[in-house]
Amino acid sequence: MISEFDKSKIKGLILNDIARKGGKYVANWRVYKPVIDHEKCVACGLCISYCPEQAIEPGDDGKPVIDYRFCKGCGVCANECPQKAIEMVKEETQ
Ligand code: SF4
Ligand code: SF4
Repeated sequence: MISEFDKSKIKGLILNDIARKGGKYVANWRVYKPVIDHEKCVACGLCISYCPEQAIEPGDDGKPVIDYRFCKGCGVCANECPQKAIEMVKEETQ
């Protein structure tokens, strides 16, 4: 069941985004969220390729940017990053 809080977040989604991404609103599954250290990142793109939700896209500088609306916190990106540039950080409890 979707709470009122979740509904207000879903309302902010753009339909194009839903079609382009994994199509699922999964952000409220997260216990840990990935945080990218752009100093360590070498823009290899592996995290973008491996993300099962297609929640990561290259930014203007080619380095990845995470769309947290679609990130379920699985940690695949952090696991695959050869530079160890992605850290999984515990979500703050609401
Ligand atoms: S934690 Fe999982 S869903 Fe979130 S950006 Fe990384 S690979 Fe994608
Ligand atoms: S896998 Fe790591 S080094 Fe490669 S683009 Fe992603 S964060 Fe940067």
